[in-house]
Amino acid sequence: MIKDNGKPKIAVIIPCYNEEEVLPETINILSDFLERMKASEISEDSFLLFIDDGSKDNTWHTIEKAAQISHFIKAIKFSRNFGHQNALLAGYEYVVDKCDAALTIDADLQDDINVVEEGIKKINDGCDIVYFARKRRSADSWFKRTTAVLFYKLMALLGVEIVYNHADFRLTTNRVQRELLSFREVNLFLRAMFPLMGFRSEIIYEDRKERKAGESKYPLKKMLAFAFEGITSFSVMPLRFITVLGIIVFLLSILMGFYIVFVKFFGHSVVPGWASVVIPIYLLGGLTIFSIGVAGEYIGKIYKEVKARPRFIVDKVIE
Ligand code: UDP
Ligand code: MG
Repeated sequence: MIKDNGKPKIAVIIPCYNEEEVLPETINILSDFLERMKASEISEDSFLLFIDDGSKDNTWHTIEKAAQISHFIKAIKFSRNFGHQNALLAGYEYVVDKCDAALTIDADLQDDINVVEEGIKKINDGCDIVYFARKRRSADSWFKRTTAVLFYKLMALLGVEIVYNHADFRLTTNRVQRELLSFREVNLFLRAMFPLMGFRSEIIYEDRKERKAGESKYPLKKMLAFAFEGITSFSVMPLRFITVLGIIVFLLSILMGFYIVFVKFFGHSVVPGWASVVIPIYLLGGLTIFSIGVAGEYIGKIYKEVKARPRFIVDKVIE
């Protein structure tokens, strides 16, 4: 531990993608939080680390200006947009040897920073991961709420362990981060990777608010892609489901075969069955295409993993 006087050194990792509208306020609030905590709970050397995930607006400029004024602000600028999960990963990689624990929080101030103090107490008590989860989702739209519930249910059904209503607002000790960095996968879905690692963890509930300014950087398309990533990265159940479906269809077609033979020899009027020919063609056609699609998804993933491209590329660093 890098602890000074028994106080943990904390790094706050903030991924930012086109957040110029909210960033000045974020910097103020997080700086205040850090100052307040330094007075009691955490080491004087604790710092903020902003990751600019290839923003196209004034995000980097805003961070640079803030870093000139405050020595506890550090930053990494990606060469292009590599996505939220990779930004968090870069953050963990940077801070792992420089801190005792890291807090990850979104730049849009949706999360309630006031719950972190309790989290740090848990870390001091020997807990390794603190998940901050939402008590309720009243700030989200009906659509986001419903799809989120469906997603968590589906993940549970597929046997993937994931903390209900927890996103990427969490505290982790550096030994957890070190383990995380040994996971070499390109397709990242951090919120399922932490439960996979084990360690002692706790859940603290927060009231998640609406975004302070700017728009969500997760439009529907990105959200769906992310959910898909989560499912296919952590579960091979869809593949197994298809195998089972294939077996069921096969058994049914054998039964149907018996039935047809029975009707042919013992039935009263043998109508050449149009339906019984055409329906299975559509059914099996659909099933086959669907199965190839699912298998293809996983092959696509293997393709990406085998190439093992870097998960992010850093352009600049402010120490
Ligand atoms: N983000 C990022 N790269 C991206 C998309 C988002 O670093 O490609 C950051 C974003 O700036 C924010 C966090 O990830 O700090 C969560 O995004 P957002 O708040 O837009 O998602 P939502 O809360 O709407 O799900
Ligand atoms: Mg948000």
